Amino acid sequence: MLDEKHIEQQLKQELVELKARARRIEAHRHGEEEAPKDWEELATHRENDEVIDALDDITRDRMSAIEHALARIAEGSWRYCRVCGEAIEEERLRAIPTLDTCIACASKLEQA
Ligand SMILES: [Zn+2]
Repeated sequence: MLDEKHIEQQLKQELVELKARARRIEAHRHGEEEAPKDWEELATHRENDEVIDALDDITRDRMSAIEHALARIAEGSWRYCRVCGEAIEEERLRAIPTLDTCIACASKLEQA
């Protein structure tokens, strides 16, 4: 059985970290702070502004995915596919708690 409360805690914790990172990115844009740490890893591959934009996009996408998952946990629909309403495979949810479709619907959506 998946421990929904435990996963909710993990997602909330990650959201706190992401929000902190989003603030650092914002501060960096305004020249108030050094670049976030992960910036240095990406910086070897891209130009500075591109790196910050890319990191900002990744951070915001991840934040909205987690907020979506937390909302689904709160309303009790987290375990169920948003397309067909069937239960999502537990091992997939365990690996990626932000999933909101079962494997059948996910592959249909990919093809569409
Ligand atoms: Zn489905």
